[in-house]
Amino acid sequence: MSDPDQFRLQTREWLVANCPASMRGPAAPEAIYRGGRKGSFPSPDAQTWFERMLERGWTAPDWPEEFGGGGLDAKHTKVLREEMKALGCRVPLSGSGLWMLGPALLEFGTLEQQQQHLPKILRGEIRWCQGYSEPGAGSDLANLSCKAVQEGELLRINGTKIWTSGADQSDWIFCLVRTSDQGPKQSGITFLLIDMAQPGVTVKPIELISGDSEFCQTFFDDATAHIRNVIGGLNQGWAVAKRLLHYERALMSELSAVSAGPKLTPVDCALKFSAAGPEGTLDPVTRDRLARYQMDRMAMEHTRQQLFEASVSGVDTSNTQLILKICATELDQQRAELLLELMGMQGLGWEGEAFSEEELQLLRQWAYSKALTIAGGSSEVQLNVIARRALQLPTR
Ligand SMILES: Cc1cc2nc3c(=O)[nH]c(=O)nc-3n(C[C@H](O)[C@H](O)[C@H](O)COP(=O)(O)OP(=O)(O)OC[C@H]3O[C@@H](n4cnc5c(N)ncnc54)[C@H](O)[C@@H]3O)c2cc1C
Repeated sequence: MSDPDQFRLQTREWLVANCPASMRGPAAPEAIYRGGRKGSFPSPDAQTWFERMLERGWTAPDWPEEFGGGGLDAKHTKVLREEMKALGCRVPLSGSGLWMLGPALLEFGTLEQQQQHLPKILRGEIRWCQGYSEPGAGSDLANLSCKAVQEGELLRINGTKIWTSGADQSDWIFCLVRTSDQGPKQSGITFLLIDMAQPGVTVKPIELISGDSEFCQTFFDDATAHIRNVIGGLNQGWAVAKRLLHYERALMSELSAVSAGPKLTPVDCALKFSAAGPEGTLDPVTRDRLARYQMDRMAMEHTRQQLFEASVSGVDTSNTQLILKICATELDQQRAELLLELMGMQGLGWEGEAFSEEELQLLRQWAYSKALTIAGGSSEVQLNVIARRALQLPTR
């Protein structure tokens, strides 16, 4: 593999020449390409960008070339990400197949499973959703009761999953199902891949306060999956599930990946909405809050960078990642609160001509930010996990 400095120069040159101008800068959720049979490109530029990146294997730069990935090692992947960030290039493809299931398959899947699923994920052919939570099993995930019973080479699935993001747009679902009631709850769980295009699978969207409807409830009534779609072995799914959660939390600590809409910073916002007061300057309390936010934000960036360096050198960063997920999502909420306060009356608009599109989006972003400390495991439960696992504090 080429020298990282040389690779950086070549990558920068290629990105400048190939990333369309409209594919640079923050993207609204509807402008992100997520692939799948029901998906379409949000714009011709999005398609061009996706195709160019795919050709180089850079929709999944660090996956092996044999599956269509870029085959980059951690150092080169980091260089690519840094260069994309510096130019503001958007990811050409997003989704839980790419960020969560793919890495888990690379770790736990058989070669046959990897060959079947990985190329379709990185080519955007199949869109995946995550079937973990149930009405009676969220924080206490191991309590799940969606059942799969083996019948020869098939597993027959009955039960329901809730809060399944994007299920109505997805083709396949990776699910945790109960395959045994014997022993501890965790030891009767299987990680199963299920094709959603079958009569026994029904999806019902759930509307949110933000006005979006990204969640669904997913019902299984005698749906089936072939036994070859079990990942990590029958009743061995808990280890796969936990590892996948690690990828999910890592993703959530990458603020830019989860914050949709305008990327106005609190300082931008203060300048725009508050600085033109009678004195032309901000009051000391607001200035103090802004400075604190900026410092926390910078500390977060540095910590993330440090964590990445450590993981490249082979250090296990999973405990720190748990902490970072809490800090990053709470910081994102602080940002949303601060923005809204700085906007004053303009921050109160849900709809109507008195408010600009940007102002309306910021309010929706604020509403959505409430979900960040719940998705991927609520902050309260994360604190319990950190106390037990990372700090090894005694538990009752
Ligand atoms: C934006 C978003 C996207 C999501 N996408 C998906 C998805 O695609 N697939 C999927 O399967 N799930 C998804 N979820 C669901 C998510 O994983 C759950 O909401 C989360 O795990 C919490 O579970 P729950 O909602 O059942 O809350 P509960 O477990 O009922 O918790 C309710 C409250 O009680 C607190 N609590 C619970 N137990 C304890 C405890 N032991 N100590 C202290 N406090 C406790 C929690 O912190 C929380 O505040 C998503 C959630 C959100 C917000």
